[in-house]
Amino acid sequence: MASVDLTSIPLLDKKHSGVPSDYLEQAKGSKARLYSNKTLPASVPRDEEVPVLPPDVTREIFDAAIAELKRKLGEENVELNDKPLVDGWYLEHPNTHDAFHVVPQSDLVSSATVYPGSTDEVVQIVRWANDYLIPIYPISMGRNLGYGGAAPRVRGSVVVDLGRRMNKVLKIDGSNATCMVEPGVSYFKLHEEVQKTGYDLWVDVPDVAGGSVLGNAIDRGVGYTPYGDHFTNHCGLEVVLPSGEVLRTGMGALPGKDGADNPSWQAFQNPYGPTPDGIFSQSNFGIVTKMGMWLMPATGHQSYMITFPRDDDFEQIIEIIRPLALNRILGNIPQLRSVIQELAVTGKPKSFFYDGKDPMPREVVRSHAKNMPCGDISWAFYGTVYGNKETRDMQLEIIKREFGKVAGARFILPEEMPPEHYIHSRVNVCSGTPELRELDWLNWQPNAAHLFFAPITPTRGEDARVIHEIVSRLHKKWGFDNFSTLCIAGREMHWIANIVYDRADEDSKRRAVGLMREMIEEAAKNGFGEYRTHLLFADQVARTYGWNNQALMRFNETIKDALDPNGILAPGRAGIWPRRFRGKGWEILEEDEWRNSSLPKVDGSSK
Ligand code: ADP
Repeated sequence: MASVDLTSIPLLDKKHSGVPSDYLEQAKGSKARLYSNKTLPASVPRDEEVPVLPPDVTREIFDAAIAELKRKLGEENVELNDKPLVDGWYLEHPNTHDAFHVVPQSDLVSSATVYPGSTDEVVQIVRWANDYLIPIYPISMGRNLGYGGAAPRVRGSVVVDLGRRMNKVLKIDGSNATCMVEPGVSYFKLHEEVQKTGYDLWVDVPDVAGGSVLGNAIDRGVGYTPYGDHFTNHCGLEVVLPSGEVLRTGMGALPGKDGADNPSWQAFQNPYGPTPDGIFSQSNFGIVTKMGMWLMPATGHQSYMITFPRDDDFEQIIEIIRPLALNRILGNIPQLRSVIQELAVTGKPKSFFYDGKDPMPREVVRSHAKNMPCGDISWAFYGTVYGNKETRDMQLEIIKREFGKVAGARFILPEEMPPEHYIHSRVNVCSGTPELRELDWLNWQPNAAHLFFAPITPTRGEDARVIHEIVSRLHKKWGFDNFSTLCIAGREMHWIANIVYDRADEDSKRRAVGLMREMIEEAAKNGFGEYRTHLLFADQVARTYGWNNQALMRFNETIKDALDPNGILAPGRAGIWPRRFRGKGWEILEEDEWRNSSLPKVDGSSK
């Protein structure tokens, strides 16, 4: 067991990435549980010359470049990545590498981190990168765990950590329910600032509230209130282009009176001309330094869960969900979770339930589920309805009636569950209150990390069945428990299959990669694609969107080369490689690598 220091958890009033003080006890509990299941040392000495250099840059030039960057930004705002790598945990995460490494820890590493304090300093960094042809990789908070964390795709890139010094809530317009944030504003912070205004407004929060509001939206993350599609609810961006030019999108492009910000910037998304915002999400076309966001007027809410006893009623459940979702009877983005998550979210390790290494057999899951508050179930549906009591009651009546058609369905209200049950965390998340609880399923494996396989399917039983079959069969083949959660937005579902692996176990990592690659491939053959993926799978996923001889990729490459001719901004992110790197061995595509059971090589220059 690793030793655990519970005094080091950062607080929000001291650090932008910290927790509000009223979450400290909960955070301590999460950290203690995670460390009780950790066998890896905090760090190991690095066995190569550090910092790792960016490609095609000599140490002499790198040193001169860093010295210049320090002159521009201040010595204290540039930090070399030359110390042992520390994975930490969610609230003490690194900005040097992927804390959830699925390849060797030192493969996806930066050479240095720079901390800009303003849009103007971001411009200076971009110009500097062009002068030295050093790739830079922007992060807002760097907690994009499961998708690559803070790691750059190209080894030796300089990470631009925007959050540390650019973390202000710039505006809250309480009457029009909008705000404007810098990259380092977490959900915890925005929630706190909104509360201080006295306006009764909600911030839509994702499962865990430590991420950046801006970073999550431009990576197209989701939450669970009616405002759960974060990118759809953003309104106006300020972007530094790879040339150093600064652009404002939406109404922000029209200067306000006497040079003020446009008064409609956060009120209207798509005014005159083409709408460029989308190309700055999940891309490497610009660095977003400000973002407007809509807030939701608070309303009455009632969360509930419905449990279903039989695995095989899955298609029927989805068929019931679709019309309810389309007609907005289901008020939010509800989740359908597989039963094994009821065990995992208790925070107890898999070994508590089962001592085999193989996926937990269904009978074993069943035998433990029986003793859980919701009993021997197969699926748990977590939903929330909104509005005044009368409206909610009417909606709940329809919901009960429709799901009641599934044999053995049971409708449960939060007050019927014990206080430690997960449903109480859903009540918070679904009503705009930040949460940490979702961290607990990470205890499933020792030294646990996770990767998300996240395909989109229409909300239709027969389509969902295809993914269900692929996910279940391949999880079994590669030896992983199947943690599937379906986030249902209406016409489509984000199917989130969470692969939880042990960072200390090379074989576990290898299998996690193999499972991901094969699921991506099989899903694509059946016409299904992922909405988001980890850095290492970006090339594979991007190419599944290959209609008409990769027309979309060629379009993206045309934009990339026009905006970033020197290829300095996040090369390889979202599978988009600038001309300087393209076709030179950086793309991770070779199927043979994972079929032959080796981890992918990330470093193009070594091929
Ligand atoms: P989180 O908000 O979850 O902590 P990150 O800050 O890691 O997420 O952001 C998610 C991803 O989006 C990053 O890995 C990075 O590639 C990209 N990104 C984050 N912030 C910006 C930004 N301000 N401009 C451009 N890309 C960004």
